[in-house]
Amino acid sequence: MRSDQLSYPPAADIINDIMKIIRFKTSFTPPQYGWIDQNRVGMIQGNPYGESRRFEPEFDLSQVELLVPCEPSKLIAVGQNYAAHANEFNNDIPAYPLIFLKPTSALIAAGQPIILPPQSARVDHEAELAVVIKKSSRWLTIDEAGASIFGFTIANDVTARDLQQQDGQWTRAKGFDTFCPLGPWIETEFTATDAMISCHVNNSLRQMGSTRDMIFDIYQLVAYISTVMTLNPGDVILTGTPAGVSPLEDGDTVSIHIEGIGSLINPVIAQNRTQPSRKINLD
Ligand code: MG
Repeated sequence: MRSDQLSYPPAADIINDIMKIIRFKTSFTPPQYGWIDQNRVGMIQGNPYGESRRFEPEFDLSQVELLVPCEPSKLIAVGQNYAAHANEFNNDIPAYPLIFLKPTSALIAAGQPIILPPQSARVDHEAELAVVIKKSSRWLTIDEAGASIFGFTIANDVTARDLQQQDGQWTRAKGFDTFCPLGPWIETEFTATDAMISCHVNNSLRQMGSTRDMIFDIYQLVAYISTVMTLNPGDVILTGTPAGVSPLEDGDTVSIHIEGIGSLINPVIAQNRTQPSRKINLD
């Protein structure tokens, strides 16, 4: 599905924003980085995280296909980073960030469908602010963390809730293909201290919260994660979801809006396969 088949926020939402970084392709150009200037797209030559050059806009935004806006080596996610969401499942508020990984094979761009797998009877949306890393980083202090952030985008930490509870470990529940919509762009001028995050399924409001209510803020998260693993340019940190997660059904449309960034919209479809046998033949 082309992303331009879906409705995006009105033009007023993106006017005068010249710091939106995308990856895109057109019918006659290969995947590449670009930037948005008032509904127009220009190419970026070089490394967007380092030495790069912007070219004058030459495409209409409606004419390009938006891709996942970065190429991460890993997706790190944070569980239960909003007290109200932790309370939804009767979990204690964590004393330190609870981190897990999602595979990069789960990534999809704005407009691409979330596919409900046959193994799960309950797949939830989780609207999240995502941090994109700028440079190789290890053992950062909280004060150093800001210099390692390239920008911010929107993520949906799609979760098979029944499998999460069944497994204990979260890899399967969080790791299906299409379970990490990301985009539509990276906003490099964004203040994460008090931005509203909302999630609509079809026209129904399901989640709303402010980044102000995070238990660990973005600088604490980036610093903490860098004490465990090297963060690379383009790596993505999903910073947790506010309360209100709810199930997705075949035919739904999920729309996540973050004030100051924009909207990430994805349709939902059920996979047309039968439930795999409980007993898998390993011969
Ligand atoms: Mg989450």
